[in-house]
Amino acid sequence: NTSLHEFDPAVAAAVDAELHRQQSTLEMIASENFAPVAVMEAQGSVLTNKYAEGYPGRRYYGGCEHVDVIEQIAIDRVKELFGAEHANVQPHSGAQANAAAMFALLKPGDTIMGLNLAHGGHLTHGMKINFSGKLYNVVAYHVGDDGQVDMAEVERLAKENKPKLIVAGWSAYPRQLDFAAFRRIADEVGAYLMVDMAHFAGLVAAGLHPNPVPHAHVVTTTTHKTLGGPRGGVILSTAELAKKINSAVFPGQQGGPLEHVVAAKAVAFKVCATEEFKERQRRTLEGARILAERLVKDDVRAVGVDVLSGGTDVHLVLVDLRNSELDGQQAEDRLHEVGITVNRNAIPNDPRPPMVTSGLRIGTPALATRGFTTEDFTEVADVIAETLKPSYDVDALRARVTALAEKHPLYAGLK
Ligand code: PLP
Repeated sequence: NTSLHEFDPAVAAAVDAELHRQQSTLEMIASENFAPVAVMEAQGSVLTNKYAEGYPGRRYYGGCEHVDVIEQIAIDRVKELFGAEHANVQPHSGAQANAAAMFALLKPGDTIMGLNLAHGGHLTHGMKINFSGKLYNVVAYHVGDDGQVDMAEVERLAKENKPKLIVAGWSAYPRQLDFAAFRRIADEVGAYLMVDMAHFAGLVAAGLHPNPVPHAHVVTTTTHKTLGGPRGGVILSTAELAKKINSAVFPGQQGGPLEHVVAAKAVAFKVCATEEFKERQRRTLEGARILAERLVKDDVRAVGVDVLSGGTDVHLVLVDLRNSELDGQQAEDRLHEVGITVNRNAIPNDPRPPMVTSGLRIGTPALATRGFTTEDFTEVADVIAETLKPSYDVDALRARVTALAEKHPLYAGLK
């Protein structure tokens, strides 16, 4: 029972350094967030020791009476949060959730449709060397010149290819999808509709984004992005598909569930139902809007910076650097230099290679969790704009970042 610091100073030192990095820099990776201490406490608990193959009340191991309580709480809370008939809280991650949902609904060789990766889709929506691209016949749809998903193309491709499954969802897209239109198209061609709301689930939970649950056969999500919980996945579905989904997760895709993570998910869902969470999601959206407005001003336009689709309806902004001297890699590095963490991102019709790219994806969920206000987001948007100019002053910009980080202490009790 020796502590981590005593037993393994090398790992402990790296964990401490990571805590310091999170505290002293500004996290703007759109898929990241800061889990509350209560969530981390559940995830770091003795539940890590328990095997619990099966589902509450129907386990293949003894001693599951307490994890049954926990898993049922998680199921009940997430169903209530999104108005779903069925929930499976066991997927180890978003990719696992998508794999299980597809395993439940499809056979190898079936046709699926998903948003092209370079246009904002996820690897699991049909990328060539992902399981989804290897097991299924993929027909990708795209965004049009206005940066929005081209629903006319979705309809045309669906009619031509008769997919068994249409995936609506994204990893890098600044607008809302029309779930009703997706469902109408899916119904016309006899396809299932699966919505992957991994990115925007927190906004849905707060009532600030349309809820896909009434429209889709299956909805998948991660629990660590806008939802702000532990790393993990969830599948929601109609009652009719419940059995298929459950057996696709276990024994189809996974063995024992991570009950420590399930407990942390339960705690996170409790947080999501609070007024404080709604208020945080409101600031998340406002921060993204402030950022988009700053990055279309004349002074940054003059150096070739633009915003895809002209703005945002969600928690992220996609910066278009096609006309900038800076490529995605250089812009990411430069922001890192001043203490802001973002990721470069391929954009539609990107002339630069995937490891370099001509885009940046910048998100506001983590800073909103940290307590950033309108004023703080205005300041950080200006710091980003100034950093992307050739005349940028590293020391002055880094000082402004440090002032913002110090204004909003993170995990103060942790050291
Ligand atoms: N689905 C979408 C839309 C995502 O953006 C991601 C993560 O980036 C995933 C699924 C996969 O989640 P995970 O990284 O937990 O496997």
